[in-house]
Amino acid sequence: MAKIVSIANQKGGVGKTTTAVNLAAGVALLGKRVLLVDMDPQGNATSGLGIDPRSLQTTVYNCLINYVKFHESVRTTEVNGLSLLPANADLSGAEIELVNVEEREKLLRNFLRDVDQLFDVIFLDCPPTLGILTVNALVASRSVLVPVQCEYYAMEGLSRLVGNIERVRQSFNQELQLEGIVLTMFDARNTLARQVSAQVREYFKDIVYDTVIPRNVTLAEAPSYGRPAMLYNVASAGSQAYLSLAKEFVSHGEKSAR
Ligand code: ADP
Ligand code: MG
Repeated sequence: MAKIVSIANQKGGVGKTTTAVNLAAGVALLGKRVLLVDMDPQGNATSGLGIDPRSLQTTVYNCLINYVKFHESVRTTEVNGLSLLPANADLSGAEIELVNVEEREKLLRNFLRDVDQLFDVIFLDCPPTLGILTVNALVASRSVLVPVQCEYYAMEGLSRLVGNIERVRQSFNQELQLEGIVLTMFDARNTLARQVSAQVREYFKDIVYDTVIPRNVTLAEAPSYGRPAMLYNVASAGSQAYLSLAKEFVSHGEKSAR
């Protein structure tokens, strides 16, 4: 059975997709069978893995709405062992189209049941909202991994997210755990970033990964080449950080606060 992990934070631009793509690639490079599901209509994880979202006939949207089969939509990637279930703008219709669908929170969960045995880990790259797509991801997941950018209001955003996770746990998915918090786009020369990082660690303790993702140009550039950072410039600090995060993810298993 695959371990299913949402990568979520209701704030945009904090490094969710960068973490989803590079952690998924890193875990695959460690020999695991990994699926990345793009749950964001922006399709950034899809294009970040070299697939043009506009060129797609079938995506995760058709799997959820039209009962299209997994094998008709899944794509292989340049990384051995990493598969992608892509998304494009079609997915933005889901929010409205699903309003009257019964058990609409469980579509992804039910769909992934059938492919569970094909993978060791399934990562879900969530959009920056707590709409039906993110709820579907959280309901399908065993745990949530939260990328946090060390800036003003990071703690407020985090406590709101933890509250939302708690609500999903109570309503739909009692198994849902906090997998871990990863500090992203970290700039050690920035005093505020150091302060916020210390606050997050003090409050969330060992649920925060030791690995910190630095602000790094390779991580920003690699998506325009349609590649995870390690396939673009493996020596870069960004690639090395995500490889280190992948090792931590695999070796620690679930880091539960409770
Ligand atoms: P989200 O998915 O949370 O919206 P992204 O992963 O798309 O965030 O990141 C937002 C932007 O910041 C993107 O342009 C991405 O390339 C860039 N970025 C993300 N992480 C880093 C990093 N560690 N260093 C430099 N740029 C980064
Ligand atoms: Mg994103």
